[in-house]
Amino acid sequence: MPEASPEASPEASPEASDACRPAAGELAPVIDLARCEGKADCLRVCPYDVFEVRVATPDERRSLGWLAQIKSMAHGHRKAFAVHADQCHACGLCVTACPETAIRLLKP
Ligand code: SF4
Repeated sequence: MPEASPEASPEASPEASDACRPAAGELAPVIDLARCEGKADCLRVCPYDVFEVRVATPDERRSLGWLAQIKSMAHGHRKAFAVHADQCHACGLCVTACPETAIRLLKP
């Protein structure tokens, strides 16, 4: 029996275990922008391309408290945004991967 190629595993894993997870859109990642430092671990681990990491707009920055705005400056105002939150399958990988514990899974 041929062995599975290493390239096939990451694509197969999310689909294979979907039966044990909520359907897409039942839970969605919510990012605490005051905590997020834009390190993009969530972007790297999410199997469903839910995230983008970009520089926060001036309006998005103003929505933070003053301490978070100063902290944000130190990281070039880079933040993660759940632009495809409706595609989330609640695997929890982003929650575990985030070094700032900035992501929670909540009902939309
Ligand atoms: S819980 Fe899983 S599917 Fe949902 S955003 Fe996080 S990594 Fe992506």
